[in-house]
Amino acid sequence: MTMKTNPAIKECQHFLVDIDGTITDYREGATATDKLLHGNFLFPIIRDMMMEKGWKKDVAEQEIRKLADKVVFWDYPDFIAEFELSAKEAFHRMRQWHRDNLIIYHETVKLVKSLANEGKKLFIMSNNPYTGCMFKLQVAGLADNDFSSPYFCRIFGTNILRGCKGVPDVWQRAIAQIPAELSDICVIGDNPYEDGDIPRQCGINHSIIIPRKTIAPGALVLGTEQ
Ligand SMILES: [Mg+2]
Repeated sequence: MTMKTNPAIKECQHFLVDIDGTITDYREGATATDKLLHGNFLFPIIRDMMMEKGWKKDVAEQEIRKLADKVVFWDYPDFIAEFELSAKEAFHRMRQWHRDNLIIYHETVKLVKSLANEGKKLFIMSNNPYTGCMFKLQVAGLADNDFSSPYFCRIFGTNILRGCKGVPDVWQRAIAQIPAELSDICVIGDNPYEDGDIPRQCGINHSIIIPRKTIAPGALVLGTEQ
């Protein structure tokens, strides 16, 4: 059964769509440990921009870590503001990082566009903060460079929902922002636990899980209803 012929696609009007592993993925080696700072792939860009303004490397890294720990549900603009960096330049470099390091699952992009064209209401449900979601959607052609999207009503990122999708409360906070019955909501994702089991615990019975690990990136994607 393809995703497009899945009964939930017809029955539901509201879709919560995952990004990582569903719409985009990282190229091999893109998130290798030695390229990360505090476990994050964009913090090195923040650090480099700080160093260009005269910060010492170790102090810059320490301050980034400190802010990430202090603002638990941070987004990248928190760092741009705190360290008085150019948003234009930071966004330019971050966008370029995504262009260089992401692959796109074109079948999911097509599905998103066709659902939106049918008038379905789409929401992003992701473990990225808002601007992180937007960079990925921009690369996939699903958002504009000004951080708006013609395809998604809302972007539920970690800083919006205050947490990641492995926590039922986070799903409850998303559900509380969607004016629909639970039976009218469907999740599209690649993680059977985070995109299937946890939302099901919260009453969302429709999940389409893409078995991504077994399929080559870019291949025709098949979906199974959980
Ligand atoms: Mg995922």
